[in-house]
Amino acid sequence: MAKTQRRQTKSQKLVLDFFNENDQAISHEMLEKALGDKMNRVTIYRILNRFEEDGIVHKIVSRDGVAHFARCESDCNHDHHRDNHIHFRCTQCDTISCMEQTVALSLPSSYTVENTNFLVSGVCPKCNK
Ligand SMILES: [Zn+2]
Ligand SMILES: [Zn+2]
Ligand SMILES: [Zn+2]
Repeated sequence: MAKTQRRQTKSQKLVLDFFNENDQAISHEMLEKALGDKMNRVTIYRILNRFEEDGIVHKIVSRDGVAHFARCESDCNHDHHRDNHIHFRCTQCDTISCMEQTVALSLPSSYTVENTNFLVSGVCPKCNK
């Protein structure tokens, strides 16, 4: 990882490990279930905000308004997310995954894009059998 990172606390490392072990997007609730005995929900909340600020994870808001987070691509950094890829939400297993496919945006130059949140729903390959 070329990115310079601030020193990590033990809790931050646990959360990061959890992201690295899962290739689907992760919600607060999932983190609380997995790590709730090691840290409280406020800590989880703070870590996710911090990671988002640092360009480590990006936020995806699902249709029901629940925030999910996923690992960023390597060219994301502080203050600048470049996650213009599509997210796929499976209506069967209710997971959200980052896709490699990106969306080309062509907005008038007077608009500054700060965040994108492309969400496509349907049936994932695992459930599509
Ligand atoms: Zn990002
Ligand atoms: Zn599925
Ligand atoms: Zn993504």
